[in-house]
Amino acid sequence: MEKYRTEQIRNVVLLSHTNAGKTSLCENMLFQAKAISRLGRVDDGTTTSDYEPEETKRKISINLSLLPFEWNKTKVNLIDSPGYPDFVGEVKAALRAADGAIVVVSAASGVEVGTELVWKYADDRVLPRILFVNKIDRENADFFKTVEQLSTKFGRKCVPIQLPIGAESKFEGVVDLISKTAKPPSSLADKIAAFREKLVESVAETDDSLITKYLEGTELTEDEVRRALRAATINGKLVPVLAGSALQSKGIAELMESILNYLPSPKDKGKVTAKNAQTQQDEEIEPDESAPLAALVFKTTADPYVGKLTYLRVYSGVIKSDSSVWNATKKRAERIGQLYMIRGKSQEAVPQITAGDIGAVAKLAETGTSDTLCSKDHPLSLAPIEFPLPSLSVAVHPTTKADLDKLGSSLTRLTEEDLTLAVRKDLDTAETVLSGMGESHFEVSAEKMKRKFGVEVRIEPPKIPYRETITMPVEAEYKHKKQTGGHGQYGHVWLRLEPLPRGSGAEFTAKVVGGSVPKNYIPAVEKGVNEGLKEGGLAGYPITDMKVTLFDGSYHAVDSSEISFKIAASYALKKGMSQGQPVLLEPIMNIHITIPDNFTGDVMSDLNSKRARVMGMSPGGGINHIDAQAPLAEMLRYATDLRAITQGRGTYTMEYSHYEQVPPHVVQKIIAESKKEPEKA
Ligand code: GDP
Repeated sequence: MEKYRTEQIRNVVLLSHTNAGKTSLCENMLFQAKAISRLGRVDDGTTTSDYEPEETKRKISINLSLLPFEWNKTKVNLIDSPGYPDFVGEVKAALRAADGAIVVVSAASGVEVGTELVWKYADDRVLPRILFVNKIDRENADFFKTVEQLSTKFGRKCVPIQLPIGAESKFEGVVDLISKTAKPPSSLADKIAAFREKLVESVAETDDSLITKYLEGTELTEDEVRRALRAATINGKLVPVLAGSALQSKGIAELMESILNYLPSPKDKGKVTAKNAQTQQDEEIEPDESAPLAALVFKTTADPYVGKLTYLRVYSGVIKSDSSVWNATKKRAERIGQLYMIRGKSQEAVPQITAGDIGAVAKLAETGTSDTLCSKDHPLSLAPIEFPLPSLSVAVHPTTKADLDKLGSSLTRLTEEDLTLAVRKDLDTAETVLSGMGESHFEVSAEKMKRKFGVEVRIEPPKIPYRETITMPVEAEYKHKKQTGGHGQYGHVWLRLEPLPRGSGAEFTAKVVGGSVPKNYIPAVEKGVNEGLKEGGLAGYPITDMKVTLFDGSYHAVDSSEISFKIAASYALKKGMSQGQPVLLEPIMNIHITIPDNFTGDVMSDLNSKRARVMGMSPGGGINHIDAQAPLAEMLRYATDLRAITQGRGTYTMEYSHYEQVPPHVVQKIIAESKKEPEKA
């Protein structure tokens, strides 16, 4: 690719509900711009954007893809993003690298849940945007109905700048509302006049000098309308609405033209704030080649050909191949080898990436996603990308011994690539627990582990770290006595077991009088007690919130030994447990749920069915925040459940609060389950 000035660059993310046609649209733009010579199809698994096996198999985008092309001497870095909610992390990364967005809506389905979600993400990042109403060729396509919906949902600032000529099988193309030289069919004349009037009025309202002219009745020139529309789109006052069909290549060249005309270059976006690591002061950095280097890593991936690949958005300065840079986040020097321009899975070596542009570098040692690369003598750090916290957890079990050996390292690499995944070892259940965004996220992660690292795993719901305790004090005795040839075995203890308040844990004390258990055997008794505490007595879960006191016993001058006292103690504990009216305890979680108001009833009745207690609610502005407590066992699939109830609009966070007694009707089920597990039998 040629060298482009910052003004000649557009970084544009494609956003939509899944299936609106983003991937097809990208493919078509690349083809029209001659960046690819063959037009691939989503349905054949041959697009430039979705090339990973996990994507072609499902016919959905899972990863963001970088798809640059040149159009009228401008470099457009298209970033295709996944529409499926499990992969929102990639959407957040794509949003961060972009200066503008194309929101794609299907003319047959209109505004969908995913459309509203991505609209909000784009709002959060104050991204200027264009709306593209796709699939005008499809049965039941209705451009005008979709436009009405858009303006109801997102405001009157969504204004068509073109109209489709015909629809469904009679869709012929689009007519521009600004150009006066366009020659539309006469049947559309009235509609065009009305929409043109509305467009000109909306544009004039955004510009002080034009509104006066407009109100005086002077006709605005084509150039005036375009210039004011550009300014209004960039500052978010207007959102141009376009129409077309990605499948039939209609309206695509016009969309590409609109990207150049109405979306901002990095220069238009202006300065970016970075923190100077030396002075600890914020600095405004210019999107300029001559400014100090500041580049943000927005994606890290393991590429089968070049190894670890790091995607960069350069905000200021220039990064060069074969150079040395400073990672301000990790405070480490980093060697830059060959830089690349990326298009889907292909890479083109380039000598440098300049301010405003996007590219990649292979084999960085220290650098991860969200890090800032800069020069050591002017250390700058850009704000990190805000990824959503993982909300669902599963246990990962390796299939074979060989898989077990590679499990840790492959999970580490997976979590490096995907910051919406987190892995930890649960010390209570001894399971490797993977947290992520949803069930598809785990399925795809398992497939990736197999393909990229050759590790096969089973994904299962995580075990619940239940506990056991007693509800009344008891005294228990056990005498371990065996006479085998030679030395016998003799250990005899009396233990007092007493319930403690929740959260106290388990404790052991010895209060033996008169040396009935000699001092030197007390550590062995404690060991036996501790073993018994670990093994439990009811369903095999560890015992907690209980005080164990050794208060009596007896010994034999010849036959007593440490092992005999240990055995006696552990049996006495088991006996005491069974007599002390044992109960199961389960972890209770604090849950904070945020939902649109109208789902409150459904969310509450679902919470009721999950044994939850609602602690508080604070509705306002159409949003409701619900605080609740519920057992972890009921919340294992909450990410999926909440998404289904709220059509993907609800979010929640969850953290451990305390342990509580499991109600009797649930206990029997847990005991039966635990007896089924081979390791507990
Ligand atoms: P994405 O999920 O937003 O990336 O959407 P895709 O590009 O994967 O398209 C989803 C489905 O819609 C695929 O089967 C496409 O062939 C189809 N599709 C995309 N654009 C159009 C269009 O303009 N017209 C019609 N009829 N189908 C389309």
